[in-house]
Amino acid sequence: MPQTAEIICLRQELEKRKQEKADLERLLYIANQHADFIDARMQIQTDALHESKNKLRKAKEQAEMANRAKSAFLANMSHELRSPLNGILGYAQILQRDPALVDKLKNGVSIIHQSGDYLLTLINDILDLSKIEAGKLEWVKAYFYLPTFLQGIVDLFRLRAEAQEIVFNYESLSPLPSGIHGDEKRLRQILLNLLSNAVKFTQHGHIMLTVGYQSEQTSNSFQEGKLYFQVKDSGIGIAKKDSEQIFEPFRQVGTQNQIIEGTGLGLPIAQKLVEMMGGELKVKSELGQGSTFEFEIKVQASTDLGIPPMTQSPTIIGFNKKSNCKSGITNQENFRILVVDDMWQNRSFLVDLLEPLGFNVLEAQNGQEALTKVYEYSPDIVLMDMVMSTMDGFECSRQIRQDPQLKEMVIIAVSASVFAHHQQACFEVGCQMFLPKPIEIEQLLQGLATYLPLEWIYEEPATLNEPSKIEFSPKGPKKEQLHALWKLVMKGDRQGIKDCANQLKQLDAQLHPFAEHLYHLAENFQIQKLEEFVRQYL
Ligand code: ADP
Repeated sequence: MPQTAEIICLRQELEKRKQEKADLERLLYIANQHADFIDARMQIQTDALHESKNKLRKAKEQAEMANRAKSAFLANMSHELRSPLNGILGYAQILQRDPALVDKLKNGVSIIHQSGDYLLTLINDILDLSKIEAGKLEWVKAYFYLPTFLQGIVDLFRLRAEAQEIVFNYESLSPLPSGIHGDEKRLRQILLNLLSNAVKFTQHGHIMLTVGYQSEQTSNSFQEGKLYFQVKDSGIGIAKKDSEQIFEPFRQVGTQNQIIEGTGLGLPIAQKLVEMMGGELKVKSELGQGSTFEFEIKVQASTDLGIPPMTQSPTIIGFNKKSNCKSGITNQENFRILVVDDMWQNRSFLVDLLEPLGFNVLEAQNGQEALTKVYEYSPDIVLMDMVMSTMDGFECSRQIRQDPQLKEMVIIAVSASVFAHHQQACFEVGCQMFLPKPIEIEQLLQGLATYLPLEWIYEEPATLNEPSKIEFSPKGPKKEQLHALWKLVMKGDRQGIKDCANQLKQLDAQLHPFAEHLYHLAENFQIQKLEEFVRQYL
């Protein structure tokens, strides 16, 4: 019996174990099902992750492609527009240099030049905006003469304002330094934009450009300081709600008939440039009352950079060959320049510019032809267009550099592709210099003089159109007084000049006419005339 009880016990135990096993199996089954479910979920999530990663990658690729297409379009557009502008602006410059040009045509040529320049500004603005977006806006610092710089701007806008019968005034709040270390081109771009807007949006009244300087720290020869600029107009003004929008690209505000010409790019670019120079462009305006734009930038200033260059350099009319030839320059009777360009208009402009100056000019319409002429005529300088069919300027320059005999030949890249990487590529294939199209004659001639042993012959100064210098030159003060006066003129210190004029009057009765004229010019903000008047005594 006890055996039977034991068996029963064992059976019960067996049953229990079976039950437990069944439970465990069920649990295992459920767990497996959960695991499958989790696996499936994970798979779905991994797939979704992959899919969104793929989508992201595709979107990124598309954005990059669109960006590349935009850059390529901009580069192409800039190149295509600059090439014909090279012909237009090139010939406008040649005609403007011609003393035989009659007044009536002078005006026409000047309009062609101005309109071409305006087109160029538009192209440059669009390029600048794309550089800002890509964070690649570059600036170049150098020393420049502030009084001459301001004078150029004041003269330009005095004329523009006069043409529109509005008053333009210039005032310096404090003595200004003569030399500034900064990006002259970009500072001019900012001021031209603000002043152009002021002229554009002012039908009556006045425009005022105010400049001030505050020094902060002085080292041996330089001062750290702040330059302040303000452009104020009595024009149509800007509504409060629009005063931020005007800094957005392509944004023009006001009523439809107030939107005059323009692209809406000037202010966003000016704002970025001011920021790059460490300042902030601010606007105060009231609708119907006028607007004031102002900014302050940090600069390094020098109070004495000597006597500034003439604002307008005399025209070059030829050259004399120097006897000592630099290496690489052949000793031929005359300098030979090979012009390589696939557009005949661009070759023609360079031929018409350089031949009358006395150069022998040869032409080639692609790299292949250029190579032949290089071997045939050994030119002293090659002016090489870079983007051409058949053989481009890069390949041609590369092949010239590969020949040990031609290693020293001067190649100046002349190109309508102005991006920094393109310029770099020109230097990499062996070009010594880069000239952007449209070509500026002054820049080209400077380039030639760098490599050719020559001395320019200038147009006789008497033929320069500066009657004020010749017509009025009364007895002037002594050397020391003159130098003190010159410094005041360079600083634009009108009050100082007027005080000086009063002192000269008391000092010597013979200086009366000089002092009177000086006082009159200072009183009437005639800074350039002041500079010219005093310069003739120096
Ligand atoms: P654009 O002058 O080419 O239109 P800007 O970016 O220089 O482009 O200016 C943007 C807009 O700001 C102008 O279209 C104009 O509506 C407004 N604006 C700028 N300057 C002035 C000003 N001095 N007076 C009135 N409105 C102005």
